[in-house]
Amino acid sequence: MTTVYDVAIIGGGHNGLVCSAYLAMAGLRVVVLERRGVVGGAAVTEEFFPGFRNSVAAYTVSLLNPKIIRDLDLAGHGLRVIERPLANFLPLEDGRYLKVGQGRTSDEVAKFSRRDAEKLADYDARLQAVADVLRALVLQTPPNVVEGRPLAALGELIRAGRAAQALRRLGLESQRELLALFTASAGGYLDGWFDSDPIKAVFGFDGVVGNYASPYTPGSAYVLLHHCFGAVNGRKGAWGHAIGGMGAITQAMARAAAAAGVDIRLASPVREVLVEKGRAAGVVTEPGERIFARAVVANVDPKLLYLRLIDPAALPKDFRRRVETYRCGSGTFRLNVALSELPDFTALPGRTLGEHHAAGIIIAPTLAYMEQAYFDARTSGWSRRPIVELVIASALDDTLAPPGQHVASLFCQHVAPKLPDGSSWDDHRERVADLMIATVDAYAPNFARAVLGRQIFSPLDLERTFGLTAGDIFHGALEPGQLFSARPILGHADYRGPIPGLYMCGAGTHPGGGVTGAPGHNAAREIVRDFRRGRAGLVPPI
Ligand SMILES: Cc1cc2nc3c(=O)[nH]c(=O)nc-3n(C[C@H](O)[C@H](O)[C@H](O)COP(=O)(O)OP(=O)(O)OC[C@H]3O[C@@H](n4cnc5c(N)ncnc54)[C@H](O)[C@@H]3O)c2cc1C
Repeated sequence: MTTVYDVAIIGGGHNGLVCSAYLAMAGLRVVVLERRGVVGGAAVTEEFFPGFRNSVAAYTVSLLNPKIIRDLDLAGHGLRVIERPLANFLPLEDGRYLKVGQGRTSDEVAKFSRRDAEKLADYDARLQAVADVLRALVLQTPPNVVEGRPLAALGELIRAGRAAQALRRLGLESQRELLALFTASAGGYLDGWFDSDPIKAVFGFDGVVGNYASPYTPGSAYVLLHHCFGAVNGRKGAWGHAIGGMGAITQAMARAAAAAGVDIRLASPVREVLVEKGRAAGVVTEPGERIFARAVVANVDPKLLYLRLIDPAALPKDFRRRVETYRCGSGTFRLNVALSELPDFTALPGRTLGEHHAAGIIIAPTLAYMEQAYFDARTSGWSRRPIVELVIASALDDTLAPPGQHVASLFCQHVAPKLPDGSSWDDHRERVADLMIATVDAYAPNFARAVLGRQIFSPLDLERTFGLTAGDIFHGALEPGQLFSARPILGHADYRGPIPGLYMCGAGTHPGGGVTGAPGHNAAREIVRDFRRGRAGLVPPI
C-alpha cells in the first residue's frame, strides 16, 4: 500500500529536521528523505581518519536559535554547547599576536593602538544594537511582494510595517549604523572605526567567511553582521563548541523529530518533485519510488531544487531564469586533519594546551591580505597566501581524538568555486591542501609534520558530498539582493515556491546560512498555517 504523507521533506539537514519536528508537533504526518547515510547536512560529526572524529564541515556554533533549542528540547536530547575560553587568536609574522575574548580584547588591542582599544566598547555596543534588530527578525517571515491579490498584499504591508517599527525603535544613530552594515564593505566599515590592522583582520574575517568577495566589496559588512546575531548559552555574539561536534546538534534534532513521530529515511536521494495538475504531489526517489504527500518541502538549496529536481515545464520561465542567476559559490576549501600534537606557534611557543589552542586561530593578518587572496583566486583559482581559520576542536572536547592527539578544522576562504582556466578541482585538490597546511606551518613550524591524516573538501567535493551547489556554504550568497524579502527571490520570501504545495525550508531562505534552524522553524509555521486554513490552491485542509 502507498503511504500518503501530509508533508515530504527533501533533505535531512538541520533545517529539514527542525521543520519536520515542528510539523509533526503540529499533528502532521511527515517523512524526511535524506540522500546521505547520516542526517545533518553540513552539520555532522564523522570519523575522517581511524580514531579521529570531527565536525567535518560546519564546526562552530552560535547562530542556533534559543527558541528552537527550547522548543525541541535539544538539551534533553543530549546537546551541550560550551563557549570557547578565547574567541580568536591572530598570530602575526613579526612574532606578535592578538588575542580576542571576553575581558581581554581591550588590553590586547592596546598593544597595537590605544585609540582602537578605547573604541572597542562603543563598536561592540553599536554592532550589538543592530544585531538585536536582526535577532528580532530572524524568526519572522519577511514581508513578501505579492501581485494581484489585494488582501494578501495588505497582509504583507502590515508585516512590512511591523519590521519598520523594529527599525524605528533603534533611533537615528543606530539606523545610520544599520544602513552602513547593510550596504557598506566590511573593510570600509572597519576602517571607519579602527586604525590598527590586527583587530580589523579579526573582525573583518567575519566579512569574508562564506563570502567570495573582497572585504572592500560593498555589502560585505552585512556578512560581518550576520556572524554576530547569535549567542552561546545567552552570551550575545559568542561562538562555541557542541560537545561531540556539530553532529551532536543534528542528532539531537533527529531524536526530537523522531520523538514527535517523523519518519526519517536515510540513503533516500530524491530525483524529482512530482507535479500533478499544477501542484506538488510528492517526490520520486533515485530508485524510482513515488512517495505521495500533500505538501513538499525542500531543504536543498534553490538552484538544486529548481534547476535539477523539477521539470522545467512546471516552472514559470521568468522564475527559472532568476534561479539561474541566483548567486551561489562561497569560495570555500575545507580540510580536516588528525594531529599527533598541538601546533607550536612562533608567536606564542608551546605544545602543551594553551587557551589560544582552543580559539578560532586566524591566519590572515590584514584586510589587504584578504583582498589580495580574493584577487588571486579570481585570476588563478586560489592564492599563494590563503586565508585560513584553524579550529582545534579536541582542545575543548576530548571525545574527538585519542588521548594526547588532536583534530583540527582548516576553514579556508577564497578559492574559486569554478577554476578560471576551466580545469577541475579534482586536478588541484591535493596541491591546494598542501598549500593550506604550509600556510599554517609558516606560523607554527611543527604543524605539517604533526599531520597524521587529512580529509579534503574542495568546492567540488562540498557539492558532491553535501549537495551544496558550487560548494556554497550558505545555499547562496548573503548579499543585499539575496536577503530578507529577496531571499531567495523577490516574491518568494514566505517559504512558498511558485508551485502550489511546494515550500522551501533551507538556508537559501530567510535568514540565510549558518546553523540557525530559523528557516526550518519559519517554514514550518507557514506550512502549518496553510494546512490549518485549508488554503485554496496550496494544500488541502486537514
Ligand atoms: C565547510 C562548511 C563550514 C561551515 N561552517 C559553519 C560554522 O562553523 N557554523 C555555522 O553556523 N555554519 C557553518 N556553515 C554553514 C552551515 O553549515 C549551513 O549554512 C547549514 O548547514 C545549512 O543547513 P540546511 O539544513 O539549510 O542545509 P544542508 O545542511 O545543506 O542540508 C541539506 C540536506 O539535503 C540533502 N540533500 C541534498 N540533495 C538531496 C536529494 N536530492 N535528496 C535528498 N536529500 C538531499 C543533503 O545531503 C543535506 O543533508 C558551514 C558550512 C560548510 C559547508
